[in-house]
Amino acid sequence: MTLEKNVEFAVNIKCQKQVDALKKTLSEIKIEDASISKENKSLVVKSSLPSSQILAKIKGAGFEAAIKGVGPATGENISAAVCVLNNERIKGIIRFVQTSSECIIEGTIEGLSPGKHGINIHEHGDISNSCQNTGQHYNPFNAPHGGPMDPPNERHVGDLGNVEADNHGRAVFVVEDGIISVEDIIGRAVVIHAQEDDLGQGNNHLSKKTGNAGEAIVCGIIARSSGLFQNKKQICACDGTTLWEES
Ligand code: ZN
Repeated sequence: MTLEKNVEFAVNIKCQKQVDALKKTLSEIKIEDASISKENKSLVVKSSLPSSQILAKIKGAGFEAAIKGVGPATGENISAAVCVLNNERIKGIIRFVQTSSECIIEGTIEGLSPGKHGINIHEHGDISNSCQNTGQHYNPFNAPHGGPMDPPNERHVGDLGNVEADNHGRAVFVVEDGIISVEDIIGRAVVIHAQEDDLGQGNNHLSKKTGNAGEAIVCGIIARSSGLFQNKKQICACDGTTLWEES
C-alpha cells in the first residue's frame, strides 16, 4: 500500500533565488513531484513522507512555512477532516486524510505536560462541560479497548493510542490507521487525556474500557475540512494567529 499524498504548504518565498533554493532543498528528500508558486507563496508536494517531516526540512533550510492542506495523491473524491484543540493551556490541530487504503492522521499539540497522553476519538462532538459530554470511545463494533495496531475486534475504532510530548510540551505525530474512515468520524470528538493510555494491556479495571488514561484535558470537534487547494485563508480561524505562527 502506498501512503503517497499531496500536501500544500504556504511558504514565504519572495524572489526567484528563494524558489531555486527551495527546489534544491526539496531535491534532498524523497518526493515524487513538486510545484512552486512564488505568486501564491504556495508549494505542492507529492510524497509518501510525513508532512511534518517535509515541513521540518523546508523550515530547516530557513523558510517560513506551514501546512495548508493535505489530500490524496489521486482521485477526485477528497475526504479530509480537521480538529482544532484549544483551551487556556493547550492548543493543537489534527488533520485526517482518507486515502484508498488508510486514514492518515497528522497533528501538532502544544501545552501538554511532557510524556505520553492517551488520544481517542469519542462518540459525540459535544465539547461543552469540560469534554464530559463526548461520550465513550467511538466503538461501533462493540469491542474492548485496545491500541491502534490491534485488529478491529480487539480495539475501539476510536483508539488512537498515545501522543508523546517533549520537554517543551509539544507533540508532533503522523500515524496511519487502517480502520478509521474519515466519513465515520466527522462530527465526533478527539479527546486528549491526562495520562498514558495502556492500550488495554494494563492491570487496572479500566484498562479494557478506557486504557486508564485519566481525565480528559482537552477536546475538539472533528469537522469536514476544505481539502487540498480549497483553503484560501491566510489566517487560522482558531485564534487569529497567522499560518506561520500556527506552524
Ligand atoms: Zn478505547
